[in-house]
Amino acid sequence: MTMERGILSDVRPGDVTIPGAYITDEVMQAVLDRQCHRCAGCNAPLAAGSTHFDLRQPVICGGAHTVGNFEALCPFCHRNLMRRIRERLAGMNDHRDK
Ligand SMILES: [Zn+2]
Repeated sequence: MTMERGILSDVRPGDVTIPGAYITDEVMQAVLDRQCHRCAGCNAPLAAGSTHFDLRQPVICGGAHTVGNFEALCPFCHRNLMRRIRERLAGMNDHRDK
């Protein structure tokens, strides 16, 4: 297994790109094994190529960049998670400005 950092010239179905967060194949596999290859949000079976990995607790919100904090999500739940995080961050900024 060779690692090519920064160059996404050959993205195979099994590969998952996570913008802004670094995750290794080992971490992905550990997370998938832990969740029995099912979405952490809705328990739907996760298909290779449409699985999103993300931090349950974002680093910016005090989360750790660890396997335990990562979770695998289907595209729908991932979108919901992103929205929740954005709302939380917006709330934090709101609070700070006042
Ligand atoms: Zn889901």
